[in-house]
Formats: sequence, structure tokens, C-alpha cells
Amino acid sequence: MGARHGWWCNSKTVPMTCKFCGDQIFWLSCDCGSSVLFDELGWPWPRHQCAGLTPKTTLSRLGPDDLSGSILSRLDSDKADAIAQLIDANIERDYAQAVKKAAKATERRQRQSAWVARQDPYHRLETTERGIITEINRDANIFKKAGVTAGAVGVALLGQFANLSLVQITIHTGALTETEADNCSFTFFVAESAVEKLEVFRGCFVVAKLRGIVISSRHPIWVCEDLTDPYS
Ligand SMILES: [Zn+2]
Ligand SMILES: [Zn+2]
Repeated sequence: MGARHGWWCNSKTVPMTCKFCGDQIFWLSCDCGSSVLFDELGWPWPRHQCAGLTPKTTLSRLGPDDLSGSILSRLDSDKADAIAQLIDANIERDYAQAVKKAAKATERRQRQSAWVARQDPYHRLETTERGIITEINRDANIFKKAGVTAGAVGVALLGQFANLSLVQITIHTGALTETEADNCSFTFFVAESAVEKLEVFRGCFVVAKLRGIVISSRHPIWVCEDLTDPYS
């Protein structure tokens, strides 16, 4: 039996909106490379399956043999049940219970963001952040936000972002069971084409590779060079 997933491998469970069907679902991922979408947390661990979803994303590395979703898609219900047992055995009991409890509490609170700290960059700072999209602004102006006045220096620092059609996105980080300190907000510019390709909207979960650009110290900005989601 392979090692269980949970606290030790930094498992994170995030409530999110499915970009294909709009359902409230949960994404569980960990440092081992697990990435699974569930309808509900806990036994029988119903995996989220909807028309837009490719089978490979429904199960990955939660079983001892790293069963892939392509196998899963061909399973009858008996075997699907066996996989549910496998998942149940492979997620630490106390972790599973903790996220279930946290999910219920979050539901009760109607997911009101209690306390969110905005994170600003310094120049060239790089980070990869994962979070729920809380805002998409198609009218934000990167020159204005970055405090670029006339002149080529600021424009040069923006690099390719000076010439792209951009969208400004805000995400909130923080997974179930994490403390409020982990709930941060990042606001960044990203190519409109990348957002269109992913087809994400408010409530969707994204992973954003960010880089800080500070042209004017009063106007630090983040730009996103790579945007992905748990489906890709
Ligand atoms: Zn793991
Ligand atoms: Zn769906």
C-alpha cells in the first residue's frame, strides 16, 4: 500500500466552481502530484465527472499504482466502488475529517471572506499562487496601475505586457483547514487570450505564475506569465 495523502504531503482541498457545469465542487491536490475533483468530501468520495471534463483529471496518484482516469472511465460500478475504497484508504482519516468539517463551517458562513490581506510585490519577485477568482476586470489599464508616465523606461519594464490585450484578475488563496493568515489576495494582469483559452470566471480556481514589476514604488503590480487550472 502506498503512503497516504494528507497533512504530511501538504494536501490542500479547495471549494471551487466547476467551469464546465457551474457546480460547487472540491479540488484536492498535494505535493505528490495528486489532483482530483470531488463532488463531496469523504466516503464514497464521489469524483466530479461532467461533460467538459477529460477522464485523466478525475483520478491521479491517489491509488498505490497511480491509477489514471482513462482506466476509471471504463470501470463498471463495482470497480468504481473499489476505487472509492482505495481513495478512502489513501487519504489520511484525520485530514479527511478536518476538511469535511471545515467545508461545512464554510458553507454555514456563506463563504464571506473574513480577513484577506492584499499581497504586493517587489520588483522581479516571482511566486506561484493558487486561488479562487474573485474579480475579473477587463477595463483595468496597466499603464495607469503601474504608474507609468510618458517615456520609454516604464514601457520597457512592462515588456510584452505593454503590447498585450490584458485582463486584471484578483484571486483569493487559502484552502480548507488553513488559517486566516493563509487567505491572501493577489491582483495581477494576464493576457486576455490566456483567460479566454481557459474559459474561467468568478469562482473558478486557477494557478498563476506571477512576477512583480515595480516602476513606481507607489504602484507595484503583478503580471501573470502562466495561468492554468486543475482541469488542464
Ligand atoms: Zn500526497
Ligand atoms: Zn462540472
